[in-house]
Amino acid sequence: MHHFQFRNGELYAEEIPVKEIARKVGTPFYLYSTATLRRHFRVFDKAFGSLPHLLCYSVKANSNLAVLRLFAKEGSGADIVSGGELYRALKAGIPPEKIVFSGVGKTPKEMREALKAGILMFNVESLGELKTLSKVARSLGKVAPVAIRINPDVDPKTHPYISTGLQKNKFGLDLETALKAYLFAQKDPHLQILGIDCHIGSQLTEVSPFVEALRRVKAFIKRLDREGIKIRYLDLGGGLGIVYGDEAPPPPEEYAQAIIEELKDLEVILILEPGRVLVGNAGILITRVLYYKETPVKKFLIVDAGMNDLLRPAFYKAYHEIVPVSLCKDRPNIIVDVVGPICETGDFLAQDRQLPLVKPGELLAVMSAGAYGFVMSSNYNSRPRPPEILVHRDQYFVIRKRESYNRLVAGEKIPTFLTEDSKLE
Ligand SMILES: *Cc1c(COP(=O)(O)O)cnc(C)c1O
Repeated sequence: MHHFQFRNGELYAEEIPVKEIARKVGTPFYLYSTATLRRHFRVFDKAFGSLPHLLCYSVKANSNLAVLRLFAKEGSGADIVSGGELYRALKAGIPPEKIVFSGVGKTPKEMREALKAGILMFNVESLGELKTLSKVARSLGKVAPVAIRINPDVDPKTHPYISTGLQKNKFGLDLETALKAYLFAQKDPHLQILGIDCHIGSQLTEVSPFVEALRRVKAFIKRLDREGIKIRYLDLGGGLGIVYGDEAPPPPEEYAQAIIEELKDLEVILILEPGRVLVGNAGILITRVLYYKETPVKKFLIVDAGMNDLLRPAFYKAYHEIVPVSLCKDRPNIIVDVVGPICETGDFLAQDRQLPLVKPGELLAVMSAGAYGFVMSSNYNSRPRPPEILVHRDQYFVIRKRESYNRLVAGEKIPTFLTEDSKLE
């Protein structure tokens, strides 16, 4: 469910025609819907009902301050993976006591920042990290709240680049090593064991891998109990998938029911770190067709958004539905590659896609671009990154402006030895 719908052949974002926004802000641009973001959060939160739980929105899926503020107002916490995300989450008004810090490579500096802020807990992913965290906490005269991220070795049946809970992945600790980590933390006065964590992957379209992972976590909690280690928070990570094309992921209610069922006999506070499922279908990317081009073997629509704006197709061969913003009736359908201006063969938004023959100057909407869209954008080919626009009913707001050429070179400097007139030796 989302609020990007056609009315009389025109794509609307909530109450505004998308082409009107395009006229004002230019293309390409990301467009998010407040009503959709809010709805997704509420549906997900409600699905867990009266079960004690905390939603920690996964900031990396879409980190715009306005999006974070919207979730903060809904009562969300945050799952962060860097000092930069901590900075954003705090700036957006997410309370530190609702922030969990994930990631395999936290630096001592990031640990210090998070400890000073007073976050809920660190999801620790290695013995080395645990020892470093202890040292940093000691140097600040603090006690670091920790969960150990375990790697349950469950196949999430998703794209290999977004599988994270298999033994061969870099994430989490196998159960034997995790036990060592807990025993280490138990004895360390600068560490306080608060929870256990796992996150097995992203864009999961079945409930069973989550249940399997949860069962392994539960069995491990019993083992910890025998060691006198009590677990207060069980963090099951994120990963619930969305519809991009013909997937049929379980609705949040079904996902929640399966988890609630497993947790009946356990007294823990459940933490979830949803990302994609909250923001994915709440955002689209609008791009303008520049040229139509035919080669002896292929047809191409060349558009003004490229892999620097939306990396997912190039990176994961991800599928995004593409629709004309103004429905063009009576146009023949063609099979085309929709490609960007970047000098890379991998620069495509769609391959061999059936589309009506849209003309140069017309707009296309790349659907389901709200998650891992703008956040993965870059300046490759020295392209200023696109703006992000948030629609609220019949109004729109620029929540990140289009980058200028000036911004492109901000921070760069030509050293003096190159500015001198003399020839280089
Ligand atoms: C990326 C990530 C998430 C969010 O995953 P989604 O598939 O977007 O829900 C949650 N937790 C951790 C640790 C992550 O790395």
